[in-house]
Amino acid sequence: MNAIEDCVRLAPLHNPANLMGIRACQKAVPGVPQVAVFDTAFHHSIPEHAYIYPIPYKYFEENDIRKYGFHGTSHRFVSAKAVELLGGKAEGTKIVTCHLGNGASLAAIKDGKSIDTTMGVTPLEGVPMGTRSGSIDPAIVEIIASIEGIPATDAVNVLNKKSGVLGVSGISSDFRDLETAAGLTGKPPEDPEKAHRAKLALDVYNYHVAKFVGSYIVAMGGVDAIVFTAGVGENSSNARLGICNNLKGIGITIDEEKNKSRDYDDYMEITASGSNAKVFVIATNEELVIARDTMAIIK
Ligand code: AMP
Repeated sequence: MNAIEDCVRLAPLHNPANLMGIRACQKAVPGVPQVAVFDTAFHHSIPEHAYIYPIPYKYFEENDIRKYGFHGTSHRFVSAKAVELLGGKAEGTKIVTCHLGNGASLAAIKDGKSIDTTMGVTPLEGVPMGTRSGSIDPAIVEIIASIEGIPATDAVNVLNKKSGVLGVSGISSDFRDLETAAGLTGKPPEDPEKAHRAKLALDVYNYHVAKFVGSYIVAMGGVDAIVFTAGVGENSSNARLGICNNLKGIGITIDEEKNKSRDYDDYMEITASGSNAKVFVIATNEELVIARDTMAIIK
């Protein structure tokens, strides 16, 4: 609990709430062991050159500013499943996992270990999300602060809460609403201007996700499999197709009919024949990982 307290400066929104939960459980069920599972843990294998930001080194040395990454429990679960589908031996495998939910992050998983991930010291870095901008020119913080006459912390709030696909579309952070507005769900769009903005938001999203997939293929020196998971990754065939359309140039293609299928339990393969890498949709199960880790630690 002291260690979690010490990290409040790095996770001011999450850690105090988590400590409150631990204390409440201590009161409600005294003597029952508690286990804390950290979504950053799986990313501890990221090498120094990938977690160090190109800013003055003292911020790392004195203030622990480095890439930590999040969604580790999910990246760990789906990458382990992908390793199983690739033959069962983690050694030698290169996997890009795309956890695309309301929050979203990608990870490069080499030999079963995370070697890079898109989220950073906070969950704001990386791909565009429901309401978060992901990686942008950092000078935009100062520009927004100056336009709105607000402090930098409030400008960062704009990037966390009012940006991403919500910000671009002006409609919603929910991909179902955007797909409906863009006319991707079978019915023609109601409003052409809204349809354009919804489609633009989805295009921006797909483009950035695909660019990060490409960068992780470079980071690993190749790729065996790409995995889609979480709310958008598991349910939106449009998002998967839109992202993979951006990967055609490097020979990664999906079977559009298989991609449309919703008839799967834990996973489905949507790879097209001749694709340079396999493409899987895998239902994530963070709760199971947490339960297994808890059992292992308690025992
Ligand atoms: P998560 O954070 O993993 O629970 O993902 C939630 C997000 O998944 C929602 O905000 C939606 O944008 C998206 N989502 C859920 N179901 C669908 C669906 N059937 N089609 C498109 N997007 C979906």
